[in-house]
Amino acid sequence: MENGSDDVTIKILYCGVCHSDLHSVKNDWGFTNYPVVPGHEIVGLVTKTGSDVQKFKVGDRVGVGVIVGSCKTCDICQQDLENYCPRVIFTYNSRDRDGTRTYGGYSDIVVVDQHFVLRIPENLSSDACAPLLCAGITVYSPMKYYGMAEPGKHLGVAGLGGLGHVAVKFGKAFGLKVTVISTSPKKESEAINKLGADSFLVSSDPAQLKAATGTMDFIIDTISAVHPLAPLLGLLKMNGKLVTVGLPDKPLELPIFPLVLGRKLVGGSDIGGMKETQEMLDFCGKHNINADIELIDFEYINTAFERLAKSDVRYRFVIDVANSLASN
Ligand code: NAP
Ligand code: ZN
Repeated sequence: MENGSDDVTIKILYCGVCHSDLHSVKNDWGFTNYPVVPGHEIVGLVTKTGSDVQKFKVGDRVGVGVIVGSCKTCDICQQDLENYCPRVIFTYNSRDRDGTRTYGGYSDIVVVDQHFVLRIPENLSSDACAPLLCAGITVYSPMKYYGMAEPGKHLGVAGLGGLGHVAVKFGKAFGLKVTVISTSPKKESEAINKLGADSFLVSSDPAQLKAATGTMDFIIDTISAVHPLAPLLGLLKMNGKLVTVGLPDKPLELPIFPLVLGRKLVGGSDIGGMKETQEMLDFCGKHNINADIELIDFEYINTAFERLAKSDVRYRFVIDVANSLASN
């Protein structure tokens, strides 16, 4: 797309590999329009600014997340919730303002309306902060909206991948007790010693689940595949909240009895608005929160996707976009 008066052109340095990229490439959700260029965890440098751009100048380090446009005028946009605007434009696999298709961050440059461009706090590293642009805001926003950031409460994080590991870090920064609920026993020691979780539950172990019944105030469910909700609902206290952000390719079954009998709530959430995304980045700057990443070259992407499908990543692949281009 041409750089319009409100746009900035960004030379991409790094791009995170979200499980949504893999869902899109595989057409798991049934709405991929090929060819698709994924990538919505973008960090780069501004190389050009339009005449009306005041927020950024050439050379600034900036981020772009999951959305690059919305109508800006509806009730929802007025509430700074552009992510829920019916005319939202996604960073890839969407129709852009000029009618062309949007292509994501697995590429060398991107042109974006300044409203959808984020400032990166100075102390965050360019590669390790990239995942915050999607994984970070996706867990931060529901934690705030659903009142899950109250110090002293007990948070369960289901699925320790890109989203989940950032949720653990946010949980600790908010002063919560955090328990990871995982299918991967080999992630336990890192979850506790490196990410700071207080405890770790292996979801396939009925004895562990039974011992933790009714102990959690909230669970954030980041699981990317179809899974039963009953064991998670069982971990919640009365009035507990289960917030799902994972987007499996098929519907989940919702067991009604544990919901009704425990006055529990199941909710969902989709990334966050631009104002809150900036707030989340500033929060990460203040608390020195980066993602834990495995930096990869473009050539590695198919292997990275295979490993991501097997939950084998600690905890986000990030593509070293600029270096791999330079070495070509
Ligand atoms: P990820 O890095 O692959 O993490 C997902 C984790 O889920 C895995 O590491 C694994 O954790 C667990 N898991 C995978 N398959 C499972 C299964 N069959 N049963 C139980 N647990 C399983 O993925 P991600 O990038 O964090 O994304 C997670 C999901 O959120 C994806 O569906 C993605 O599309 C979606 N998403 C939603 C939003 C939004 O705005 N709502 C934004 C971004 C992504 P353990 O090894 O610990 O079990
Ligand atoms: Zn994503």
